[in-house]
Amino acid sequence: MIKKIKNIVRLLKSIDLEQIEKISQKVDLAAVMTAVSKMDDNQLKGAMKMLTGSTKKREAPPIDADFYAVEAKLSPEDRALQLKVREFLEREIKPLVNKYWLHDEFPFEIIPKLAELNVCGYVFKGYGCAGGSSLMDGIIAAEFGRIDPSIATFLGVQSGLAMGSIYMCGSEEQKQEWLPSMQRLEKIGAFGLTEPEVGSATAGGLTTTCRKTENGWVLNGQKKWIGNSTFSDMTIIWARDLDDGQVKGFIVRKENPGFMVEKIKGKMALRIVQNGLITLTDCVVPEHDRLPKANSFKDTAKVLQMTRAGVAWMAVGCARGAYENALEYTLNRKQFGKPIAAFQLIQNHLVEMLSNLTAMQTLTFRLSELQDEGKLKDEHASLAKVFCTLRTRDIVSRAREVMGGNGILLEYNVARFLADAEAIYSYEGTKEINSLIVGRSITGISAFV
Ligand SMILES: Cc1cc2nc3c(=O)[nH]c(=O)nc-3n(C[C@H](O)[C@H](O)[C@H](O)COP(=O)(O)OP(=O)(O)OC[C@H]3O[C@@H](n4cnc5c(N)ncnc54)[C@H](O)[C@@H]3O)c2cc1C
Repeated sequence: MIKKIKNIVRLLKSIDLEQIEKISQKVDLAAVMTAVSKMDDNQLKGAMKMLTGSTKKREAPPIDADFYAVEAKLSPEDRALQLKVREFLEREIKPLVNKYWLHDEFPFEIIPKLAELNVCGYVFKGYGCAGGSSLMDGIIAAEFGRIDPSIATFLGVQSGLAMGSIYMCGSEEQKQEWLPSMQRLEKIGAFGLTEPEVGSATAGGLTTTCRKTENGWVLNGQKKWIGNSTFSDMTIIWARDLDDGQVKGFIVRKENPGFMVEKIKGKMALRIVQNGLITLTDCVVPEHDRLPKANSFKDTAKVLQMTRAGVAWMAVGCARGAYENALEYTLNRKQFGKPIAAFQLIQNHLVEMLSNLTAMQTLTFRLSELQDEGKLKDEHASLAKVFCTLRTRDIVSRAREVMGGNGILLEYNVARFLADAEAIYSYEGTKEINSLIVGRSITGISAFV
């Protein structure tokens, strides 16, 4: 009984006199007191909470999209490198990207800074490269994607497609000439496989031709979408040999006669990436610039296998960037007197985003482990590319949705991810083509036409 009285006194103390006066004009206080005196301890506690609003304001948890602590599996050195890359990107790249994206231009001033970061060609051994793991290469790609998928793509083309082609298919002399300077970003590379009329069907349908002559090789044809090519020092060009019908690879220097590039304008995604339409008109390439270990499309596919895994990681980053920005926004944006994060329907979007992101993170982590164990197959890379880029589209569109109108403004840092996800979804093999690769593997039946 004494405890009960004490609780009633505490309850009364929690209401100030002014409040009591106001309440007494509207409510029969005597009846309320009678009701309160009949309450048990729990009911009294509930009434206290209601009256004092004393649900303690909880601190919002830190925004961290590594929900399953995947990053805890990194060694301390790798984790330190990841955080170094993250800090660099937030300091040097993040403030620039919206402006350059808007103007469809590349921020050349970042190239020396990127070189200092020293992550280009990260997985390759020798030639100034770090000889690091595929896992860390993926983590780095995701960090870049988290801040800006365009800059991630620039690095992916330089470090993966262009350097990778030379590393995997080049002669020792070619590696010595190109890899160290490309690693330091003193020389920039591009990779030309897709053509205006042949995108998905490059494996069997390349129309760009090469023919051996007394002076080396002569290349003819066009290449579309070639990232970095408007300013690159060289482009790896894949062409079909008119004599044996096989696909061969060439280092085509920007000064080679017969080589011409036009910038592709009007993109609605990855606007910082400078994509070119290349025209090769009797372009002469000396024999010493032919990649000696690129003798059929299978060799091209080896390069693509490695880089597709990188694109899956980049999608993880793109999705993470959008999710983190959207989560922060929902915690700060108030409607109906509450942060919108307090609404169940908004939380549902956030959880859907996080579920997909977590699935992508764990999948890519294992993908890279397979790669580091030397067990990566085309179908592994293709499955990851399909799944991650598809889920990313869903994540970025939910991120944009929970931000209402501000979701389409660049300055709120989600619109760019929303647009860029579209390009990541299509390049390095569309969903259909990568699905056909996986389908062939699990059924043993090729459904390619
Ligand atoms: C921003 C950007 C950057 C790029 N960078 C480069 C680069 O640096 N170097 C480079 O070489 N290329 C690059 N690409 C090209 C990219 O790889 C191609 O866009 C991609 O391979 C698809 O080719 P496509 O656009 O010609 O589409 P298409 O091949 O014409 O396909 C159109 C649609 O048809 C579907 N389709 C095609 N065949 C089949 C089939 N058999 N079954 C079912 N569906 C099918 C496709 O999935 C797609 O949905 C880039 C593209 C973009 C958008």
